[in-house]
Amino acid sequence: MQTSFTPAQLADADIREADGILRKCVHCGFCTATCPTYVLLGDELDSPRGRIYLIKHMLETDARAPATPARHLDRCLTCLSCMTTCPSGVNYMRLVDIARERMARGLRRPAMERMLRTLLMRLLPRPGVFRLALLGAALARPFKALLPGRLGVMAAMAPKRLAPPSAVDRPQVFPAEGARRKRVALMTGCAQQVLRPSINEATVRLLTRLGCEVVVAEGAGCCGALAHHIGETAAAEAAARANVAAWERVMAAGGLDAIVVNASGCGTTVKDYAFLLRHDPVWAERGARIASLARDVSEVIDDLGLRGMRPTDNRPRARVIAYHAACSLQHGQRVREVPKRLLAEAGFEVREPAESHLCCGSAGVYNILQADLALRLKERKAQRLAATGADVVATGNIGCWSQLQGASLMPVVHTVELLDWATGGPPPLEISPFAGASGGVGS
Ligand code: SF4
Ligand code: SF4
Repeated sequence: MQTSFTPAQLADADIREADGILRKCVHCGFCTATCPTYVLLGDELDSPRGRIYLIKHMLETDARAPATPARHLDRCLTCLSCMTTCPSGVNYMRLVDIARERMARGLRRPAMERMLRTLLMRLLPRPGVFRLALLGAALARPFKALLPGRLGVMAAMAPKRLAPPSAVDRPQVFPAEGARRKRVALMTGCAQQVLRPSINEATVRLLTRLGCEVVVAEGAGCCGALAHHIGETAAAEAAARANVAAWERVMAAGGLDAIVVNASGCGTTVKDYAFLLRHDPVWAERGARIASLARDVSEVIDDLGLRGMRPTDNRPRARVIAYHAACSLQHGQRVREVPKRLLAEAGFEVREPAESHLCCGSAGVYNILQADLALRLKERKAQRLAATGADVVATGNIGCWSQLQGASLMPVVHTVELLDWATGGPPPLEISPFAGASGGVGS
C-alpha cells in the first residue's frame, strides 16, 4: 500500500512504524473472511482492510476528531484473527494500537460513553472495588430490563454467585513439591480473582506439584490491557510499570525462570510491555526484559511435562472437552496446539468447534461497549461449541469464560483446572455431575 506521510510526520517514531506496517499491506483482502465483524456485518469498513485504509487516512491527514474511523475501530475486537490470516505479515495489532492512542487524544466522546469508560477503568482493575460492584449489580439483576442501555447489560452479566476472596491471591511464596525445578512468578490479575478464584488456586496446585516455587509478587496487579485497548495510555503504562517493578524485585530476591500468566488476554499484553512502555527508553528496556519472561501457563506446563504424572487415585472425570481457543492465545500469542495436547495427555478427548478462529465476543470490555455485536458472536460460538457434543468447554482466558459460561449449556472451565484435576487436584465444581469415566495422565 502506498503512503504519503510528510518528512515532518515521519520524524515521529509511531508514524514511522505505522508507515512500515501500512506499506506491507497488498490489499489482497484475505483477512476479511476471518474477521468476525466483517462476517457479521458484511461492511468493508468493518473489515481489517477497511480499517487499515481508515487508519492510513486518519494518520496521513492528522485528523483530530475522526468520527468514521472511531466508529469502525470501536467495533474492532482486537481479536487479531486478521494477523493470523494475513500472508504479508501486516502487524495490525501495532497499527490499531497507534491509531487508538491518537484517536483518544483528539476524539471527544458523548458524556455517557466517557462516564462508562471511566467507570470500567476504575472498577475492573481493583478486585475489592470490583467485588462490591458485582454484589451491587447482582441486586440490580431482577430489574435489568428497567435499567438504561449498557447498565442493563452490565447487571445481566453479573454472576449469580461470587466465591469468597482466595488466600492464594495474597503476596506470598508457595514452595515446590519435591525438588525445585523452576522459580516462577504467578500473575494473579484483577477481575479473574473475583470472577473465578479457582483458576489461580488450580494453577498454584499444579505448578507446585510439577516442581515450581510459585511467587505471588507484592505490588503486581492489573496488566493494563483494559486501559490500553480503550486508548488510555497513561493508565496502561502506570499498570505496566508497577508490574515490571514488582517482578524485578522478585527476580532480585532469588531469580526468576518465568512469569506465568493464566489469563491469555493479560499474557498478550505483558508479552508486549516493551511496546507499551516505548515512550520511555529506560522503562522500555525494563519492560522488554520482563516481557521476555512472560509465558502462558500452558507453555510453562508443557516445558515441565505432564507425562509421568499420575493421579493420586483413579478419579472419575468428564472425558470429552470442547476446546475454545481464546483469540489472545491463538492469534495474539500464537499458542495453538499446546493446550489441546496437554488436555489429551491428561486423558481427555479434545474436540474443536467449527469456526474456532472466530472470537466469542468477549474481548475485554467489548461485550459491554459493543453489546449487540458481542451477543451475536456469543450465541454463534455457543452453537458451535454445543455441536461438538462435548461434556465441558475448556478455555484459557477469563474473558472467554465470563462470556461463555452464561451462554453455554455445558460447564465452562479453565484448561488449568482440568489439568490440575487430572493430576491429583479436586474436580472443578461444575463438573462433578459428569463424573463417571476414568483415566490417568501418561496412561
Ligand atoms: S482484530 Fe479482529 S475484529 Fe479487528 S480487524 Fe482484525 S479480525 Fe477484524
Ligand atoms: S490479508 Fe494482509 S495484506 Fe491482505 S488486505 Fe489483509 S492486511 Fe492487507
